[in-house]
Amino acid sequence: MRLLTDAMLGTLTTYLRFAGHDTAYALEEGVEADDAVLGLADRENRRLVTRDRGLAARGSGSFLLTERDVEDQLAELAGQGLDLSVPDEPTRCGSCNGVLERVPAGEPTPGYAPVAASSDSEGFRVWRCVDCGQHFWKGSHWERMAGTLAGL
Ligand SMILES: [Zn+2]
Repeated sequence: MRLLTDAMLGTLTTYLRFAGHDTAYALEEGVEADDAVLGLADRENRRLVTRDRGLAARGSGSFLLTERDVEDQLAELAGQGLDLSVPDEPTRCGSCNGVLERVPAGEPTPGYAPVAASSDSEGFRVWRCVDCGQHFWKGSHWERMAGTLAGL
C-alpha cells in the first residue's frame, strides 16, 4: 500500500513503514498546504492518512483518523482495512522510507548495529537502507514495535 501521512503523524509514519507500507511523510517531503499534499498523493498514487476531515474528503481513498494516540490511530487504520500485521522481515526504512537490503553475514556493520549473521539462530540478521544507510535488526526496538502491532 502506498501512503502519504499528513504533518504531525511522524510516529505513526514509522509504524506504517515498519509494517511494510511505502509511506511518504508530508513533513519530510516539504509539503504543507492542502493543495500540495493532495497534489503529491495524486502524483505518486498514494492514499492520504490525515486527521483533517476536509482534506480526507478531498483525497480519493483517504484514511481519516480521529484519535491522537498512535496506538489508537493504528487500531483505527486496521479497522479501516489497512494490513498492519507484523512482517517476517523489514522492507522499509523507518527513517526515510528507503528500501532495505540484507547485509551479508560477516560484512562490517556500524558500531550501533550488531554483527550480521546469516540466520536468526546464529545471531541477528541485519538490513540496511539503500538510501540513507541506516541499519535495522530484530532487537528490542523491533520487539516493541511488533508487540504494539500484534496487540491491536
Ligand atoms: Zn533510510
